Amino acid sequence: MNPIALFGGTFDPVHYGHLGMARSAFTQLEVQKLLVLPASNPYQKGRLPFASGHHRVAMLKLAFKDDPDIEIDERELHRQGATYTFDTLRELRALYGKTASLVWLIGADAFARLDTWHRWDELFGLAHFAVIDRPSHRLQIQDGSAAFRSEVDARITSLIDTHSRPCGGVVILGMAPPPISSTDMRDSIARGDSVRGMTPDAVCDYIEQHKLYRPEEKA
Ligand code: ATP
Repeated sequence: MNPIALFGGTFDPVHYGHLGMARSAFTQLEVQKLLVLPASNPYQKGRLPFASGHHRVAMLKLAFKDDPDIEIDERELHRQGATYTFDTLRELRALYGKTASLVWLIGADAFARLDTWHRWDELFGLAHFAVIDRPSHRLQIQDGSAAFRSEVDARITSLIDTHSRPCGGVVILGMAPPPISSTDMRDSIARGDSVRGMTPDAVCDYIEQHKLYRPEEKA
C-alpha cells in the first residue's frame, strides 16, 4: 500500500523549499500521490495570510502544473475559523478509509511546535508524520514538552513502516530542501528585490502581474 502524502502550509507564496519537500515524498516515501492543502487561517502564525486563498491556489497550480500526481486540495480554504489539521485529517481519513496510509509532510520547525496544535496527540491516530529538517531548524529530540518528546520518541520509525500501516509513525526524511522561506520572499519583494530563483518563473510572473506582497498592497 503506497502512502498518500498530505502537505499542509500557508504557501504565501509557494517556493522551491516546498517543491523540494514534495519531490522527496515521491523519491523517499514512494507515495502514490500528494495533496497540497493551503490553510485558510493558520492560527499558529498569529496572523492571516498576506495573499488571498485565491491567489495562493493560483500560484500553487502554476508551481505544480507539470505533475499529475499532485493535487491542490482547497478544503481548508472552505472551512470557517481557525484551520485545524485535526479536522482536515479526520475528513481525509473518512474519504480514503481506515486502511489507507496517510503521511503528513512537515518541516522540523513546525513539527517542534506540534504539541501546541489542536488535539495534537490524536493526530497520530489519523496519519504518520514525515519530518524534514530545515537549515534554520534541525529536529532536536529535546524540542517541545516532555509529553511530546516521549510521544515522538516512541513513534520514530523507518520509511518502510509508512507502507505497512495506516498511521502512527514519525519518520525523518534525509533531504535538505533549499533554505528558502515565504518570509524571505515577501521581505525581498518589499525591498524591491527579485525573487527569481526562489520559486518557478511562472509564480514570479504571477506575483508581478498581480502586484502581490508589495508594502502598499494587501491582495
Ligand atoms: P513563512 O516564512 O511565511 O512562515 P514558510 O516558508 O515556513 O512560511 P509554510 O507554507 O508555512 O512556508 O510551510 C509549510 C510547511 O513546509 C511547514 O511544515 C514548513 O516547516 C515547511 N517548509 C517550508 N519551507 C521549508 C524549507 N525550506 N525546508 C524545510 N521545510 C520547509
